[in-house]
Amino acid sequence: MKKIEHIGIAVKNLESANATYAALLGKKHYKTEKVESEGVNTSFFLVGESKIELLAATIPESPIASFIEKRGEGIHHIAFQVEDIQKEITRLKKEGFHVLNEIPKIGADNKLVAFLHPKSAHGVLIELCQEIII
Ligand code: ZN
Repeated sequence: MKKIEHIGIAVKNLESANATYAALLGKKHYKTEKVESEGVNTSFFLVGESKIELLAATIPESPIASFIEKRGEGIHHIAFQVEDIQKEITRLKKEGFHVLNEIPKIGADNKLVAFLHPKSAHGVLIELCQEIII
């Protein structure tokens, strides 16, 4: 794993969360992106070499909607940047981690992503992400 790529935070309202985090970090988000497949709207802030990803549900069936319903707003996942996502998936499976999607999918911010079940990592949903080079 190379670094913490971003920390994902589940929020109820993206506009008001954008304003809060802009005030906190002293800068605006640099982009917003809708991830249709996950039913989320996201926005990104750059903080040094890592990012903050705010996630708001766009549909009631969104995993972010059910997360907020169960646990309220807050940290949803930690994303680690990896060099070779397929290799990491194979390695982590051997280590006994529960990989939620063994075939990486296309996530926000031009990344290939895979998730590890929170039960595998003491209650934290882990995202692996690999930059897609275009
Ligand atoms: Zn993420």
